[in-house]
Amino acid sequence: MNIALIAHDEKKQEMIQFTVAYKDILKKHMLFATGTTGTKIEDATQLPIVKFQSGPLGGDQQIGAKIAEEQMDIIIFLRDPLTAQPHEPDITALLRLCDVHQIPVVTNLAGAEIVIRALDRGDMDWRNIVKEKKD
Ligand code: PGA
Repeated sequence: MNIALIAHDEKKQEMIQFTVAYKDILKKHMLFATGTTGTKIEDATQLPIVKFQSGPLGGDQQIGAKIAEEQMDIIIFLRDPLTAQPHEPDITALLRLCDVHQIPVVTNLAGAEIVIRALDRGDMDWRNIVKEKKD
């Protein structure tokens, strides 16, 4: 599976703890991230991450483009609901594309825990079937 990881600044520590805790599951998948989030996860876990631009510089839009191309399977986006983000339109666009393309997206740690356990159990295998049908 192709998994995108994004965390706003106030949530980066949570993302690091999450990826360290679930490293053994995550290492079986292709990981993508916005710039700063990706660098921090790489440093903490040593997992290889495909890094896009930093979110405010277009990283969310780059991940959105991958969603539009059906190249993303799961989006884990730890959003900070208490701080205004300069790139709010990009965030809205990314979430909209997840809905357009039926891409599982979670925006907080509780959701991330559910999705990672579901992934480990094989509950996300339907994504492969969807992709095979489109090929
Ligand atoms: P960052 O971007 O990982 O480069 O900080 C995340 C965001 O703010 O969307």
